[in-house]
Amino acid sequence: MNGHALNGLTGDAGDASTERIQVVDEEKQFTQALSTQVERWGLRDAGFNYNIVAVFGSQSTGKSTLLNRLFGTTFDVMDETRRQQTTKGIWMCRAKAMNVLVMDVEGTDGRERGEDQDFERKSALFSLASSEILIVNLWEHQVGLYQGANMGLLKTVFEVNLGLFGKKPRDGTEGRTLLLFVIRDHIGTTPLENLRATVTADLLRIWDSLAKPDELKDRQLSDYFDLDFTALPHKILVPDKFETEVANLRTRFANKDKSDYLFKPLYHKRIPADGVSMYMENIWEQVQSNKDLDLPTQQELLAQFRCDEISAVALNEFNDQAKSQKRPIEAGKVVEGLGKMMKSWKTQALERYDRDASRYHAGVYKRKRTDLLGVVDSALSPLFLGQLKNLHKACLVSFKKEMMDGMKGDSYSFADIISSARTTCETRFTEGAKEALLEDTDWVWEDELELLREEVRSVADQCRKDETKKMINQIERNFKKQIAEPLDVALNQPSADMWDKVLKAFRQTLDKAESSYLTKAKSFNCTEEENTTSLATLRKRAWLALRAKIDEHTSDAVFLSKMRAFFEERFRYDEHGVPRVWKPEDDIDSQFKKAKDQALELIPLYSHIAPQDETLQIELPSDDFSDSMAQEEFDFPATLVVFTETKTMDLTNKFRRDADAYYVEAKRSTVASIAQ
Ligand code: GDP
Ligand code: MG
Repeated sequence: MNGHALNGLTGDAGDASTERIQVVDEEKQFTQALSTQVERWGLRDAGFNYNIVAVFGSQSTGKSTLLNRLFGTTFDVMDETRRQQTTKGIWMCRAKAMNVLVMDVEGTDGRERGEDQDFERKSALFSLASSEILIVNLWEHQVGLYQGANMGLLKTVFEVNLGLFGKKPRDGTEGRTLLLFVIRDHIGTTPLENLRATVTADLLRIWDSLAKPDELKDRQLSDYFDLDFTALPHKILVPDKFETEVANLRTRFANKDKSDYLFKPLYHKRIPADGVSMYMENIWEQVQSNKDLDLPTQQELLAQFRCDEISAVALNEFNDQAKSQKRPIEAGKVVEGLGKMMKSWKTQALERYDRDASRYHAGVYKRKRTDLLGVVDSALSPLFLGQLKNLHKACLVSFKKEMMDGMKGDSYSFADIISSARTTCETRFTEGAKEALLEDTDWVWEDELELLREEVRSVADQCRKDETKKMINQIERNFKKQIAEPLDVALNQPSADMWDKVLKAFRQTLDKAESSYLTKAKSFNCTEEENTTSLATLRKRAWLALRAKIDEHTSDAVFLSKMRAFFEERFRYDEHGVPRVWKPEDDIDSQFKKAKDQALELIPLYSHIAPQDETLQIELPSDDFSDSMAQEEFDFPATLVVFTETKTMDLTNKFRRDADAYYVEAKRSTVASIAQ
């Protein structure tokens, strides 16, 4: 360099001012030397008084050439004779006679280059986020070509830029970037205005198609970017014109006083010059670590778009089919052949998808297929679950019916009926559930079967309890019938062993009842515990039946008449059963007393259930009084008492009065016979 004076810069900067630095190398490493280099360029103390510009565009479109012409930089330019890519990574120079940092970025080629694409995206995003002006360099004939003009790349770069750096204030004071489109080899037949319109429309379309974060979904392209356009003539064909236009453009970068000055303050990132290296390094780090940047290739992008569309179409038809059975299921119907239907809808949907989508990028095709499967399965899952519920209900209903039908006859084995009804029920459910189950899903029906089993168990249990109750009632009725006669006989013939007879009859009849219960209980599959309770109930009821019978025989009226009969037999009839005709010389008094005393002895005899043979005595457990609020607790010892003390006295008195009447009558009859 031949020592041009550099306005306002420190003296010895001249040597260093043309130095270049590779900011990011091929290994994607950010340089450690940028901060030193900025100092060597003499910009360390420039404060905000500097600018940054970067370039973006396809390979070999003259980017480096343009930068060198515009800014007097020393970026490598492709050697015409070798025609190979020169710029690797990101390079930076200081512009000649301007406080401008210029970045030359490895070109993109719009084709797929695997690993390289990653760098394209990252470097593009980096330059977009870090510079005030991004020169978008493109051939005139690339305008309007989505692929050729890197518009696809721009889309992903915009997208990630929005995600990473989009939450800046909307007032436009900060974070705005100028996209300067430089259209190369402009022939002039298409006016710049038309080219501008085409590119702008393309950009707006790209912007609309971005996947924007929710909170930024209303943001416009113009909230973040200004667009400017310029065209340059053909460098080889019209070199003079090219040079003139480049010089023009240069003044727009250099001259603050020009009305079309490009470095507007609002594009400035407001980072003091001594912090710019760290700022850029941070941006590179964010860009590097951002997962969203592991971006799909163009082919994948297209595949994603198309596979989504194809999947949506397949899903549409599927949804219509699935909807047809939604209502019946919701209405509680068990849909015949549901599994077969669902399987066919699913197969059809996949076939439709496969037919059209399998031609696209294999990875995307497979991923979207998995997504489709997921959607299909989760749409079918409620039908499956609904079917299970309905099946459950239906099976339970027919279980009950089969059970009831089985018990219509007189002789049946409850256990057999239940077990056969249960088998029918479970078989039907299992078959139905298996029919509805689709392969390759995580659906299960076993849980529902378990619920059904539980309900069947509890229905059967309840039924068994009801049946047992009925059976006990039946046995109780039989008991009452059988015990009535022997009791009447025993209780109508007062004798010292009256209670022995009563209790013997009771025991025999009860034994019969118990064994009849046990025989039947076997068929009911009653548990040991249930048998114990049932037998206790049976004994208690039998005893109460006995007590009721005793009460019949010992009610006041009945018992008094029993005593009267007993007394009359002894007082009014002689030992041969012949009615007495009292004569005056008869000893009425002692006859009367004897008969009365004998009759009165009936009261203590009947007053307690007390056999002579003590082994005949019945012993039953009383109800637990402590925790029962019931009024009629069963107090066994109390039931042994037929007449209480008061009752005994009451009966005694009543009977005495009756007997006295007989005595008076007897006396009168003798007086009458004397008087005749
Ligand atoms: P880069 O890869 O985009 O940086 O492109 P270079 O600046 O290295 O240039 C690539 C080739 O294009 C070189 O041979 C240049 O001479 C040539 N070139 C530079 N500018 C122009 C231009 O405006 N028009 C044409 N047709 N060729 C150019
Ligand atoms: Mg280059």
